[in-house]
Amino acid sequence: MKDSDSKIPDQKELEKELNEYLGKKYGDRIRLVVPMLFPKPHAEEVSKEEKETGEKKKHHIQFDLKPEELEAFLNDYIIRQEEAKEILATKICTHFNRIQFTEQRKGKTRYEGVGHIKNNILMVGPTGVGKTYLIKLIAKKIGVPFVKGDATKFSETGYVGGDVEDLVRDLVYEADGDIEMAQYGIIYIDEIDKIASSNHTIGPDVSRTGVQRALLKPMEETEVDLKVPHDPISQLEAIEHYRKTGKKEKRTINTKHILFIMSGAFNGLEEMVKKRLNQEGIGFRAEIRSKDERAEYLKQVKAEDLIAFGFESEFIGRLPVTAVFERLEIEDLFAILKNPNNPIILGKKKDFKSYGIDIQFEEAALYELAVKAYEEKTGARGLVSAVEKVLLKFEKRLPSTGIKQLVVTREVVRHPEQELEQLLEDPMHPERVARFERLFSQERLELKESILRREGEFRRRYGIAFPESRINLIARRMVDKGYDVNTVFEEVVEVQRQVEEFEKEFQQRNGVRLQFDSEAIDRITDMALEEDMKGQVICSRLLKDYEHGIKLIRDRVGRREFVITKEAIDDPEEYLNRIIQEAYSQRFELEAEGKG
Ligand code: ADP
Repeated sequence: MKDSDSKIPDQKELEKELNEYLGKKYGDRIRLVVPMLFPKPHAEEVSKEEKETGEKKKHHIQFDLKPEELEAFLNDYIIRQEEAKEILATKICTHFNRIQFTEQRKGKTRYEGVGHIKNNILMVGPTGVGKTYLIKLIAKKIGVPFVKGDATKFSETGYVGGDVEDLVRDLVYEADGDIEMAQYGIIYIDEIDKIASSNHTIGPDVSRTGVQRALLKPMEETEVDLKVPHDPISQLEAIEHYRKTGKKEKRTINTKHILFIMSGAFNGLEEMVKKRLNQEGIGFRAEIRSKDERAEYLKQVKAEDLIAFGFESEFIGRLPVTAVFERLEIEDLFAILKNPNNPIILGKKKDFKSYGIDIQFEEAALYELAVKAYEEKTGARGLVSAVEKVLLKFEKRLPSTGIKQLVVTREVVRHPEQELEQLLEDPMHPERVARFERLFSQERLELKESILRREGEFRRRYGIAFPESRINLIARRMVDKGYDVNTVFEEVVEVQRQVEEFEKEFQQRNGVRLQFDSEAIDRITDMALEEDMKGQVICSRLLKDYEHGIKLIRDRVGRREFVITKEAIDDPEEYLNRIIQEAYSQRFELEAEGKG
């Protein structure tokens, strides 16, 4: 192969070359502007490899999840929004279960799926109240790719319809090139209220209606070409492929199973609902339950209100599920900061930890931050900026000092610069150090208690028990690593399963059952997580001499069960010697008895 054949120019080079060529031929009148010249390269590569090996990358979708399990999972992260959590957990679970159910019956019943309406979802609520966070959590939990787009960008970028197709293609990218997986993805489109055509919005209505229309097909079912249709390079590639193979390459993604979730603030929609309710003569005022009156009205929203707001009825018809998110109050923002799973505080701890600095927050400081954030009126998003503003100077200064501990107090939140100066002057003030220690142990204790309270729930969720020692281990890991509760539980469960797997394989090989006791499992879990290795690897490394030793005992005294204790893990050789000796003296006694 010639060098020029093997080197594929990158996007910039190619654009330049093509422009030079066009320039020569047509002068400056024509230029090539290519937003995305290639289909995402990664996606293509992986699928090529798949084709050659005939293997699919192993992705795993959790189809067997139950709505209540998913809701309980969301409760670990999302503060408030009870109704939205309930609706979304249920409808998204059903969406995926339904897919599996339909796929299993495929071809068996002729009319299966005909006329089925997908449960695409409309989310209504202000900014920073957990809409994106919630959907991202669900996508992660179920194990499907997720992409987010913005409806306001749609009409600006050339031909209508192309934008949503780009999102569909991005799903393939998110799924590491696994087209099959991409077909089960979730597409989230924000600021959907901005494509309503009404007096509420400024600008030409035609294009907004156009964008709505362009979304109709993908929201239901359509085939999206993996190659960008108006992109000359893709077309050249297709021609090249045809020339080489004589076949037309068809690589498309079907959107039948892709879940579309639209969201927006819908300012003014509540007034339309209110007006309708009044016209219908429904005395609604008495029923208002929460502080957020606006949300209470929005929860009564009907298709006709959305049509009045400026949506086409066909568009609304494809969004049969609505979930309303409430505004977050100061107390809610405070609860978010206190939640040990929340990425805002966890993230900040990690930032400092990366410089070897441990940071602790006093409750009064968290409350103060919540108050500051609330004033910004951007929901929980305000928390991020409030935390950043307070800690920026500390983040800059402390890494170049020897200071390894920081307590964020209410005073720090109120007067960060002043407090920083004091810290620099006297970092090891006994009171300061004691304060830190107290908060540190309190944090671990509270975490442990909160996990202990939920042991039953986790036992049901994972089908195994968690003794107190393992809860300790989980709490410690959460504090040390800054991981959330589900991440650590899943890790621990995984190691336990790996140890069971080792037991099973050992028994298959040697006809002897090893039984790891609870403390031994703790030790192995600790090692596996610390060294980032599989439980089996740890077990076989520790017990490498056991295959031979245990077989000896088996043959000599016929014993087929052994308990592996923490002593065995701490000093495997010593333990093995001891059980061999025991077995031999047992044998000796047996023989003596036999003789006697
Ligand atoms: P939006 O509603 O605008 O999509 P996000 O979901 O992106 O807002 O929220 C931004 C961040 O704020 C999230 O990543 C999360 O850390 C935090 N957050 C927002 N709402 C909540 C909530 N109800 N519970 C816990 N954290 C939240």
